[in-house]
Amino acid sequence: MTKTFFIETWGCQMNDLDSQRLSGSLKLRGYQRVENESAADLILLNTCSIRDKSEQKVFSHLGRLREMKAAREDLRIGVCGCVAQQEGEAILHRAPWVDFVMGPGNVGHIDQILAGERRVAIDFPEDRNYDYLTVDRPSATKAQVTIIEGCNKNCTFCIVPTTRGREVSRPFDDVLREVRAAVDSGRVEIELLGQTVNAYRCPVSGRDFGALLGAVAEVDRVARLRFMTSHPAEVSDSMIAAMRDHENISRYLHLPVQSGSSRVLRRMKRLYTREHYLDTIARIRAAIPEIQFSTDVIVGFPGETEEDFEQTISLMTEVGYGSLFAFKYSPRPGTPALKLGAPVDDDVASERLNRLFDLHEQFKREHLGSYRGRILPVLVEGPSKHDPSMLTGRTDDNVVVNFSGDPSTRPGSMLGVRIEQAQHHTLRGEAVA
Ligand code: SF4
Repeated sequence: MTKTFFIETWGCQMNDLDSQRLSGSLKLRGYQRVENESAADLILLNTCSIRDKSEQKVFSHLGRLREMKAAREDLRIGVCGCVAQQEGEAILHRAPWVDFVMGPGNVGHIDQILAGERRVAIDFPEDRNYDYLTVDRPSATKAQVTIIEGCNKNCTFCIVPTTRGREVSRPFDDVLREVRAAVDSGRVEIELLGQTVNAYRCPVSGRDFGALLGAVAEVDRVARLRFMTSHPAEVSDSMIAAMRDHENISRYLHLPVQSGSSRVLRRMKRLYTREHYLDTIARIRAAIPEIQFSTDVIVGFPGETEEDFEQTISLMTEVGYGSLFAFKYSPRPGTPALKLGAPVDDDVASERLNRLFDLHEQFKREHLGSYRGRILPVLVEGPSKHDPSMLTGRTDDNVVVNFSGDPSTRPGSMLGVRIEQAQHHTLRGEAVA
């Protein structure tokens, strides 16, 4: 009887890729993936702990699984990801119907855990057993490739160094082998991943992120190369040069700023000031004038004043971000920011968040509107989910485009699309070449 598994994934691209690795390993062991947890023999919750809300989601989900487990004793439940790493054995005390707890460092060792050798695996083994040939990639056109795990920074609000450990970069040649294998399997868009992706250093040759970026861009048939998440303090000249000199490296850079106030950035231990950040933006723009940026912002950090927040608003206006990911500060267990006093009053933080989103909506409308009448290179992903008579794809700056064109167009093709309409977050158009 074929065993079945279900994976629920929360959080960032790193978690998505970990779930792809888990899925690939389980399929290799004869398991079949199901899309409904009630049909599964094994349920994996791949969790996120970046904010309190995401952590609470895990325990309410586990509450629902309790009855399922009571009804089916052979059902196995595993908690993976950052909440597993953060809470460890405590999860088994709080939810004794959970069978095992496995942190991000042990994704490559799921077989030991399924064999019952370990019930709580939250160490960071030297050998991460990263078997890229078994990664179960959901997209026919895109492959995500981890190049560095963990983070050596210590931003005072962030739980990642606790849940993902110290930085471990993969050997340069391993990454290139994985990229070539992905391209051979038909993927033409590569996304390099890491918590601080541009802190990459090859553990064998010492080559840096800029060198790796250039080498991946030169792999035959890589139509588009993206990467995230970059840290502003790690933006090097070699990184900028690699982006400038390779047209297939996306003209869209995610560069989290978190705050526009140097005083708040110091309290966050972000390792750069407002001026340093804006100087970095200017350096990149000088080399690549058409570049678009996206960012992350935290509002309501302990001690944030109205003046500090005004600094964030003015920086947003100065840079003009294509995309914004903004959240209210969420106190995380064991993080230094807990000692910096109470968060800003919740109503004040909500009001600031809304002002930020309103500002960004206005900018976004103008930005997308500026594309009307232009012909943009679009990487085709396939038929549009909303309207199968249309095709869908993404621009170089990651904007979704739904457009009319030859329905037999192969996913992974790069087409010129004349933009006719700008909608809330997407564009509409017609294929021209
Ligand atoms: S750079 Fe800072 S915010 Fe990003 S993962 Fe590391 S500690 Fe967290």
